[in-house]
Amino acid sequence: MITIFTRRGKRIEILSQSELRHPRLTGSRVRAFCPIHGSDHQRSLSIDPASGWGYCFNAACQAKVLIAEWNPSAAHHLLAASSSRDRDQAADQEGLAGSQASPHSHWPTQQEERPSTTSVLSRWQEEERCILQALEPTMQAALKSSRQGRAYLRERAIPLEIALAGGVGLLTPTIISRLTRPRQRRLLQRWSGRLIFPLQAENTRGYIGRTLAGWHPGMDENAHKQLLERPGRPQRWIKTNPAGCFSLPREQLAPQLTVVEGTFDRLALLAAGFRANEVIALAGTALPLSWLPAQVRSVLLALDGDEGGREATARLSAQLREQGRAVSWCLIPLDGQGKDWNERWRLSGHTGLEPLLDSYRRLY
Ligand SMILES: [Zn+2]
Repeated sequence: MITIFTRRGKRIEILSQSELRHPRLTGSRVRAFCPIHGSDHQRSLSIDPASGWGYCFNAACQAKVLIAEWNPSAAHHLLAASSSRDRDQAADQEGLAGSQASPHSHWPTQQEERPSTTSVLSRWQEEERCILQALEPTMQAALKSSRQGRAYLRERAIPLEIALAGGVGLLTPTIISRLTRPRQRRLLQRWSGRLIFPLQAENTRGYIGRTLAGWHPGMDENAHKQLLERPGRPQRWIKTNPAGCFSLPREQLAPQLTVVEGTFDRLALLAAGFRANEVIALAGTALPLSWLPAQVRSVLLALDGDEGGREATARLSAQLREQGRAVSWCLIPLDGQGKDWNERWRLSGHTGLEPLLDSYRRLY
């Protein structure tokens, strides 16, 4: 267990899966005895296995937890951010930094995991992916005919045809209510009312879903994000496990790629005329080392300009160079013209993408 404090002072316990005591799947949540306050009377820890995030509902504990193996990119991000803050603080205070986080922490490998938890979870996760895959055509038809879905894309300046060609769909409550098995309806409940993006995992298909809850025409994504950050609101994004990248199938990718963070960033670049086989979205900031196929020789990293994006750019550059690929990067400028490529595209069209277009022209 590693305790970290976010920049805003929020305390998060990062746990390894093996530290969960007697985990059990209850509905769509994993419940376990809480190793933080140590009670053995109740499974008071409740975790969303797809996102890895959870909390303890014991009133005296109320821990917020992240299971590292279930959301490696978030765990990595928190640890990296925390350790870089530690370095800053250490420089100021000669080692009086408050966090116990270490970038060298070890997480158990697959072999070390408890088989019972792993098998229950992976069965559940596989079933979730299978149902979503079977519903792809239905979800695409729903997006085509949904006024809210179409308005949402329009206000992000993403043409409907581009989204549909990318496999994007909308999972409506009606689609879920038509599923015959109650178990399937229960499994998909957390995906209700979300735009669903298919992802390419290494050996399977994954999904990421963006909730439209509370969104109405005229509300931009920043206002919507603020709304969703209020207590009790659904998570903005959820993913399957494994998840993967938003891209064409790996064997179809071009030798030169542009890599962005968000699924909407990729759609914005496609709307601006980039070729579908040349752009992938990480749907996060991690790229499994073995994900990129051998034919990819050159990678242009175009991640967000914030701390997380800079950290990911450095990390991915090192990994990709080690694999013998050419790497260049174009961080999104912090110039007030939009924090990601989609926002810049929405606000200023091609002008907003100019830094990336420049880098692309110089390279390719
Ligand atoms: Zn607790």
